[in-house]
Amino acid sequence: MILVRFLQGWTKVSLLDYPGYICSVVFIAGCNLRCPYCHNRELLNKDMCRYRFDWEEILQWLLRNRQMIDGVCFTGGEPTLYEHLESMIYDVKELNLKVKLDTNGTESYVLKRLLQLQLLDYVAMDIKAPLNRYAQICRAHVNLDSIRESVELIKLYAPNYEFRTTFHPSLLSIRDFYQICEWLKGVSTYVIQSCRIGNNLDPLFNGLPPVDYEDVKSIADLCKNYFPRFVLRGFTASLKKPLTAFVE
Ligand code: SF4
Repeated sequence: MILVRFLQGWTKVSLLDYPGYICSVVFIAGCNLRCPYCHNRELLNKDMCRYRFDWEEILQWLLRNRQMIDGVCFTGGEPTLYEHLESMIYDVKELNLKVKLDTNGTESYVLKRLLQLQLLDYVAMDIKAPLNRYAQICRAHVNLDSIRESVELIKLYAPNYEFRTTFHPSLLSIRDFYQICEWLKGVSTYVIQSCRIGNNLDPLFNGLPPVDYEDVKSIADLCKNYFPRFVLRGFTASLKKPLTAFVE
C-alpha cells in the first residue's frame, strides 16, 4: 500500500481540468520552480505538506465511480518530481481510465519514459516564457535543454496535448510571445491563460486588478496566426470586444 506522503489534495470530480472529459484531480506536493503568480503555494514545498492521502482509498473510490469519470489528472506542484508517479499512473490505467499530466517540463527524462510506456493520454505543459527569460520568470535555475526536449517529446509522442502560458502584462510582452510562437511553431494547440489574482506566491500580485482581455488582445491576434488551435482561457469575464480567438 502506498501512503502517498506528498499528495496534497484530491478533487473527486472536475469538469474543468481535462478538456472534453470528466476527471478526478490528484495534487502532488513539491515544485522546483517559484513562479511569482503561483496560486498553489502550499504545494511548492513537499516538506510543508499538511495532508496525507491513502492512495488505496483513492483507487477504491475510482473503482466504485469509474462509470462517472473518464480519467485522472495528475497535477501539482510538479508531479514528475514524485517517485511514485509512474506506479500511480499504472494503477489508474488498470482501471481503464485516461491519464492527464500537468507538467512544467523540467524533468524531460520522466516525461520521456511515461510517453514511451504509452501511459499518458493528455499532456498539458507550461511554457513559462521565451527560453531566454525562463529563469527570470520562474525565479529558479532551469535546465533549458530539458524544456526544449519536453516540447519535442510531447509533439512527437503525446496522443493529445496542449502547451500553455500564464499571462500577466507585468511579466510578459508581445515581444516575448513572438519568440514563444516562433519556438513552438508546428504545435497543434496553444493556450494563453489569465493569471489568477489571489493567494499568489509573490504578495505583490495579490493587490493587482484582474487581467483584462484588452491586455491580451494584440497578443491573441499574433498567436492565432501560428497555431491550428489557439485558446484564451480565463479572460471571458472581462471581455469587452468581439473575440478573435476561441475562448474557454
Ligand atoms: S505555477 Fe510554477 S511554482 Fe507553481 S506549481 Fe506551477 S511550476 Fe510550480
